[in-house]
Amino acid sequence: MVVAEEKDELKVKLKEIFGYGSFRGNQEIVIKNILSRRNTFVIMPTGAGKSLCYQLPAMVTDGLAIVISPLIALMKNQVDQLNAYGIDARFLNSTLSKGEITRIRKDCISGKIKLLYVAPESLNKEENIEFLQKVNISFIAIDEAHCISEWGHDFRPEYRKIKTMIAQLGTMNVIALTATATPKVQLDIQKNLQMEEADVFISSFNRKNLYYEVRPKKETKKQLIRFLKDHKGKSGIIYCLSRKKVEEIAQLLNVNGFKAAPYHAGLDPDVRMKNQDNFLNEEVDIICATIAFGMGIDKPDVRFVIHYDVPKSLEGYYQETGRSGRDGLEGICLMFYSHNDLNKLEKFNKDKAVQERENARILLQEMEFYAESPVCRRKQLLHYFGEEYKEDNCGMCDNCINPRERFEGSQFVKIALEAVKQTNERFGLTHLVNVIKGIEDEYVKSYAHFDLAVFGKGDTEDADFWKSVIRQTLIYQYLEKDIDNIGVLKITKKGHAFLKKPHAVELAKDHDFTTDVVNEESSERTPINSKAYDERLFEMLKALRKQMAKEKDLPPYVIFQDPSLEEMATTYPTTKDEMASVNGVGMGKVNKFGKAFLELIQKYVDDNDIETAAEVVVKSSINKSKIKIFIIQQIDRKVDLEEIAESKSLSFDELLTEMENICYSGTKLNVDYYIDEVLDDNKQEEIYEYFLNSDTDHMDEAMTELKGFSEEDVRLMRVKFLSEYAN
Ligand code: ADP
Ligand code: MG
Ligand code: ZN
Repeated sequence: MVVAEEKDELKVKLKEIFGYGSFRGNQEIVIKNILSRRNTFVIMPTGAGKSLCYQLPAMVTDGLAIVISPLIALMKNQVDQLNAYGIDARFLNSTLSKGEITRIRKDCISGKIKLLYVAPESLNKEENIEFLQKVNISFIAIDEAHCISEWGHDFRPEYRKIKTMIAQLGTMNVIALTATATPKVQLDIQKNLQMEEADVFISSFNRKNLYYEVRPKKETKKQLIRFLKDHKGKSGIIYCLSRKKVEEIAQLLNVNGFKAAPYHAGLDPDVRMKNQDNFLNEEVDIICATIAFGMGIDKPDVRFVIHYDVPKSLEGYYQETGRSGRDGLEGICLMFYSHNDLNKLEKFNKDKAVQERENARILLQEMEFYAESPVCRRKQLLHYFGEEYKEDNCGMCDNCINPRERFEGSQFVKIALEAVKQTNERFGLTHLVNVIKGIEDEYVKSYAHFDLAVFGKGDTEDADFWKSVIRQTLIYQYLEKDIDNIGVLKITKKGHAFLKKPHAVELAKDHDFTTDVVNEESSERTPINSKAYDERLFEMLKALRKQMAKEKDLPPYVIFQDPSLEEMATTYPTTKDEMASVNGVGMGKVNKFGKAFLELIQKYVDDNDIETAAEVVVKSSINKSKIKIFIIQQIDRKVDLEEIAESKSLSFDELLTEMENICYSGTKLNVDYYIDEVLDDNKQEEIYEYFLNSDTDHMDEAMTELKGFSEEDVRLMRVKFLSEYAN
């Protein structure tokens, strides 16, 4: 079975080189596609792990992989990260001396180098093309491929020449990668690179570990300082609209004892670069920036992204918030919202051409709806990118954690759908609202819509109410946007079915940020994560990492990332092998950086009489205890149990057994997020009651007593019971 062997081989390499225990999302299938020499187009949200999609294939194929990347300033950073794994990667750009360039060329031709990062500007140089023609190239990766498209948010004209440059190198396999989801940009990229026939891999845009919240923009500075106090020492980005505001906020934070620096296009390039480096190196915790900051910043441990001002579009908002929590740990996305900000943004557009102005207005309107909507933020964001989020409660956004007041809304949904239907699915929101409210404006008159049965049917409610209803019917997919006519709404199948046979629909009231008060008590409403690791050791490891980073002149995360340190503070590795088995470490890093960390952990373990992983091994196999830690961490992050089981190739049954063992050995597991999805409250209560009153927690007895429940449900509830009661 060649296939199976191949698969295992890749997993082995993943562990050996990068120290990761499993692939994420589409990584494996993408990598296989590249290895079978197919042109490949990868669309994955920021932080999902695109780099690995070309880095691993580069390591397991003959020759040199060329990575085209837009930002010279950040190439060194990416190459540092690879070098830390012991990978021979280099970059080629205008910052290098003649001598350095000569050496790199020599090493490329001799086959020593596996990955070469270049900016399109460098690739465009005749001398570089000539030299690359002599090199054995494995494939070409184009990172941040949306830079090709004028419809993207970071258009770079040089990117448009890439196809011509590549053509001069012969027939090459190409892999293009981007986090931009809009179909228009996707199409543009494929056309421009002439890779319409490429295999396209699109991942879900759901970033499970990100928490979204919108707050009223009132006493904003006070709110901001309070938030930052609760998150002192963590890395974060604060986006502001203007350079002036950036400077002002950076100063405010410094005065208040935070380490913050400004970043915007008006700064002297040296200062700007220094501020960025200081952020990457943890010399400053917070960067205050205009949207000029961010693309290509791969800092994995950005713990929060704050929008001090309302962003111009949801797409931009999604990309910017996406820069938090790349490492899969905490990522808080907070926006301060006021309607006034939208008015300001609208004014900026007033000199634009008519169509452009109209498009910008629609983007702003989307922003307004997002902010004021009572619907799950995650559901809204994914809906915007054409993806349906099926859960009712994500548990990780303000609207799900503090739900708005709900009401039965089928009568309103019916009127909204009737309005769309009776106007022949040719109008947008504003007109529909006018029709429903019975307002006779010019449009209504010219189409004689005052004759419709639905005209004026909703005049008892105000216009904002109807806008909200229509938006919710859109997100709940009774309506959809017409692809060809921007702004126009049409009825879906689900909508038609509803009109035929209406049923109850739960709606909620919008936020009213003009009257919403700032909640003094809950300045922090994000879900609290119980820490499963030894926080004291974790802090010590972090301090050591920072010191070493300084000595080696590297960003700290290049040495070890936070999830690896968390795992070390859970398993206490004291030998090289144990440390190499930590996720994200691998032998390359152990040899380069491990010694001081092992010594620190050993001393800590001795001083505190801690049972180490090595001692646990005697009782169970190391693999087993690693699976347990993995399960604890994943449950901490509220990952679906099916997903956890799948990523460790366990059956659901086996996973439950592991979870039970974890509970019996005294660790609490909070699986409410999962149970709430599969069992309603009454059923939960019934099972819980049983365990409370029963003398034993044996399954056999439970199953005879609890009729009509599946064994899985009962075992899940037993885990909950054991965690809450027995531990
Ligand atoms: P993208 O380019 O898609 O925004 P990156 O390639 O920068 O994302 O990766 C984001 C983070 O995910 C990095 O910190 C990386 O170390 C981590 N990562 C990537 N692949 C894996 C994996 N298979 N297991 C664990 N962590 C991973
Ligand atoms: Mg990337
Ligand atoms: Zn939600």
